[in-house]
Order: sequence, then C-alpha cells, then structure tokens
Amino acid sequence: MENKKRTLREDARLIARGIGIWRTILPGYAAYLIPACLVSCALPYFPLYLSAELVNELSGGRDMRRLLILAAVTVTGTFLLSVLSRFLSGRLEASRRMFGVRHEAYLFDAENTFQYEHLEDPDVALMRSRILTNMNTSYSGLMVLLMIAENSFRNILELIVSASLTLSLFRRAQGDYTGFFAFVNSPWIVPVLIAFLAADAVVSFQASVRANNKYQDIVSELAKQNRMGRAYRNAKGVDMQIFKLNEVAIADYKKWKIRPEWVARNEKADLAYTLESKPTKLLLQIVLFWFTAAKAFLGVIGIGNFILYQGTLQRFLNAVSALVFNFGRLRYNNQYVEEVFRYLDLPNAMYKGSLAVEKRDDIEYEIEFRDVSFQYPRSTEWVLRHVNLKFQIGKNLAIVGENGSGKTTLMKLLCRLYDPTEGKILLNGIDITRYRYDEYMGLFSVVFQDYALFAFSVARNVAVSDPVDERHVWDCLNRVGIGDKIAGLDQGIHTSIGRDYENDSVDFSGGEQQKIALARALYKDAPFMILDEPTAALDPIAEAEIYARFHETVKDKTSVFISHRLSSCKFCDEIAVFDQGQLVQKGSHDTLLADENGKYYELWNAQAQYYVK
Ligand code: ADP
Repeated sequence: MENKKRTLREDARLIARGIGIWRTILPGYAAYLIPACLVSCALPYFPLYLSAELVNELSGGRDMRRLLILAAVTVTGTFLLSVLSRFLSGRLEASRRMFGVRHEAYLFDAENTFQYEHLEDPDVALMRSRILTNMNTSYSGLMVLLMIAENSFRNILELIVSASLTLSLFRRAQGDYTGFFAFVNSPWIVPVLIAFLAADAVVSFQASVRANNKYQDIVSELAKQNRMGRAYRNAKGVDMQIFKLNEVAIADYKKWKIRPEWVARNEKADLAYTLESKPTKLLLQIVLFWFTAAKAFLGVIGIGNFILYQGTLQRFLNAVSALVFNFGRLRYNNQYVEEVFRYLDLPNAMYKGSLAVEKRDDIEYEIEFRDVSFQYPRSTEWVLRHVNLKFQIGKNLAIVGENGSGKTTLMKLLCRLYDPTEGKILLNGIDITRYRYDEYMGLFSVVFQDYALFAFSVARNVAVSDPVDERHVWDCLNRVGIGDKIAGLDQGIHTSIGRDYENDSVDFSGGEQQKIALARALYKDAPFMILDEPTAALDPIAEAEIYARFHETVKDKTSVFISHRLSSCKFCDEIAVFDQGQLVQKGSHDTLLADENGKYYELWNAQAQYYVK
C-alpha cells in the first residue's frame, strides 16, 4: 500500500475520526481508560514525591513522628495504587481483546448499507481482506490508533503532572546572586529552557519521521507470507491426505521467516533516530542539571527536592520524546486508518426514493420492465437489451434461456441490486427507484443459485431474523417437504447445519439444503417469490419436481421460476424466453412449442434427450 503524503490537518482529521469510532467499537472503554491513565500516571510520582519529602525531613527537621507517617503513607499508598492500577489495566486489556471481533462486526454493519455492486467488486473484496489482515497480524489501522492515542494521552498526563511538580523549581530564590550564580534568578532562564525544549521537540520529531519511513514493516512482510499460507488452510482434508499437501505446505511454511536484512534495517533506523535526537536532549539535560544543582548547592532547595526535580525533569523530557515519537507513529499508521475509512465511505450512488409501498392484502402488485437495457459496472457489454416485460399478478412466470442469457441479471434489476442502465422498471405504474428502498426490497423473497446456509441451527437459517417464530418455521419446512426429516432429529429445528462448530450437528445432503433454503424463502412470506436455479446442481427431473412442488405451495403469490432447463418451467402460466440478453418469445408452453422457428422449440428439442425417463 502506498503511503502518500498527507497534510498535518488531514492526519489530525483521520486520528480524530478514528478516536470517535472507538465508542462504537469498544463501548465503555473510555470509562476505564481515564481512571487507568490517572492511576498509572500517579503510580511513579507518588513515591517519588513522598521520598523527596522523607529526604527533606531527614536532612532537615528530623521529626520522628512525621518521618514515620511519611514512610507509612508512601508504602501503603503505593501498594493501594498498584492494586488499583492492576485492576484497571486488567479491565482495559479484557476490553481490548474484544477489539478484533468488534472491529469485524463494525465492518459487517457498514456493509449492510453498501451498494450491491461493491459486494461483487473484486477490488473491494481485496481491500476488505487487506484491512482484516493488517488488523489481525499487526493491529495496523484502528487498533494501533487506539493503542498509540492511549499512550499519547498518558504522555500528556505525565507532562502535566511532572511540569506541575517541577514548577516550584523556578520560583525566585531569596537573596541576591551575582557573578557565577547570577543565572539562578535570571529572567532569561525560563525562555531559554523553553527554546531548548522546542528545539528538542522539533529535532526529535523530524528524526522520528525519518526513522518511521525507514522502518521495515516486518509484520506486513510476514502478513504477505501469511496470506499465501491461507491457500493451504482452505484446502479440504481429503486433498491434504490424497495429495500429501501437508508436506508441500510444511516445506513452504519453513521458507517463511524474518529476514536478517529486515532486522538490520530496523536496527539502523533505531540507531539513526538515537543519534539524531539525542544531542539536543543531552544539552537540555546538562542545562537543567546545572540549574538544579546550583540551587541545591546554594541551599535554595532541599536535597530531597533536588532528587525530586531530577526525577520529574527526566520524566517530563521522556514524556515529550514519547509524545513526539508517538505522533510520528500515528501519522505512519494513518495510511492503514485511511484505507479503513476509504472502505467505510464507499459511495452508495443508488437513488432511494421516499414513497411508501402500499401494503395490499390482495397482493395487487404489477411489475413492468419498460425498454430496460443493462451493462454491469466496469463493463461495456450489453447484458440486457431493450427488455419489455409485464408480470401478471398472482400468476407465475418462467424465465428460461441458455446460461449467460441474462436471466439472473434481470432478477438483480428487479430486486434493485442494480439499477437499469437504460429504461425503467415500474411497480404499479411508478418507477421502482421512487419507493423506499427497504420497503421495496421487502416485496421479494429470492433463492439464488449461490444461496448460502450458515453453520447455525435450522431454525435460524430459515428465519434469519430474531425472534424466531418456531411454528412458522415448522410450517415452511413441512411445505417444502423436509419437515419429517427434521422432526426425526434429536434436536429438531435446533440442530446445527454442517460440522464446522458443533459435534452434534448434521451434514444435510445437497437436496436437503436446497429445501431448507426454499423454506427460508417461504418464511419471509413476501408477495413475490423468485427461484433462480437453486436446484442447478440437481438432475433435470429432480429440479422439475421441486419446481412443481414449490409452485403448489406458493399458488397465492406472484412467483418467478428461472431455469435454463425448459422442462422445469413447463407448468408456468407464462414463459419468457431470453436469448443473449433479449426477450425473444413469450407465451404458454404449448403455444411456444408450436412455433417451430422459435428459440423455445430449438432449446426444447436440444434438451429433450435428458427428459426421457
Ligand atoms: P443467466 O442467469 O442467464 O445464466 P446472467 O444474468 O448470470 O445469465 O449473466 C449474463 C451475462 O452477464 C453473462 O455474460 C455474465 O458473464 C455477465 N455477468 C454476470 N454477472 C456479472 C458481473 N457481476 N459483472 C460483469 N458481468 C457479469
């Protein structure tokens, strides 16, 4: 992935938007984050501050009672703080563990509103897999943003605390100091120190940008290898055994390693960062040490405070470096964050109207394709050309034609997965784009050829939505003729499908799975039922039987049966014949077959051999 140059403002926007998303991905995280940061920040300062007081007391008043109290408060306070800190960081850790799953769920959620064409676009699929691989192998993207932003928050807190504990160092000392010690009360000391500090921040930042650009991203190099490994993980057990794929896989896995040149490159980048960023820091430290030591020498501050300031100043400087370095890392990580947002922001150009779809008990809906032509995105080929077609309500329509003649595409247009390139589709005389999208989609129940069952229970596969109406599930299963089989299973409709996750689940045969998919279509109880060759894997006679049975069960609805096998659709009131994207014939089986010059006649005779029992 290229890491293009972004302006500071663009980077800040990405970071802010990324932080805004945590609340959705990890709700409740911030509730623990703020106290956890406060406690972990207080943890080192608490004993530091109190031991300075102890030393001051030891080298000053030497009041035994005060000494004992200070010692007791230091020990118990530190103990309690560390217990609290452990508890809070444990909570944060537990919450972070959920990040991977929640992150994926977040993507799923966004995909719900994607325009369908993105789901069929291989570039979009690649983008998604890159986002997930980056997340799962190196946490790059939103997770790194979360971790570094959290560290930066700690750095800022540390800055505030250490600066406030150090402020008293710059209080004006009593007495006049001239000559060598004149600088102790010089009004210039603070501006000079701030100038040094600013110079140090700039130098460190530039060094960190250079270092971040030089780092070899070992994790993403490994991710590339990891992606290759997935090819084996998808292999079936039986292939593994028969072709001894394991041996090839293991030999390949052994070749994948962290290369010494990657490590050397990172060590060089580290060294360069240290050499570039340390000199100004060292100078600053010398000036600060000199200033503090001079004050202690003159007795302006106690020995305990001298120790305290050494500690707080060091922590202050470290926090500045860490903040600067982390900012560089955040900017580097932004290339991954940007890709996540590019994915989430994929444009949805589909026009969504606001008309309500009339709910009609009499199912008086009428659909008309008016001079519809269509090209897929990124293609110049006309898949459908000048299609004019009306559906008679309450009847059934068959769409037949050879593979590739455009039947599925026609249904995708009907269901608004795509909009026509030219022409219109009308529902009760009104362009379908003008209806509310969700309501319009609610009119259709479709079983496509590549339907998928999930590794959940039969009930959830049929109902898809929650809560499950179990009686309705049984009714649908009975209507497609698989009720008895399911009733015979120990767990009935609660049996899981496939053996991926549950030991007591059942592997249903291809035909049984198709029936479950049909039951799902019935469960939705939509006015339009569409079967788009979910039975293609069956032999022609079995398909014809399933279609005929399904037709019996949905007699009250408008249904569309699609097949490249004419015999499956013989029973339909009306048959539309497609050829190379055009509607070439329409009529009942008998009238179509009577036309000896027609496509239907030609296809019927070509296929006839398969139907002779
Ligand atoms: P059928 O259902 O009659 O077998 P389809 O509607 O699936 O035919 O396909 C019609 C034509 O559209 C075919 O040439 C197919 O290659 C092409 N096609 C199908 N889906 C896509 C797509 N997503 N992008 C580009 N072309 C496609």
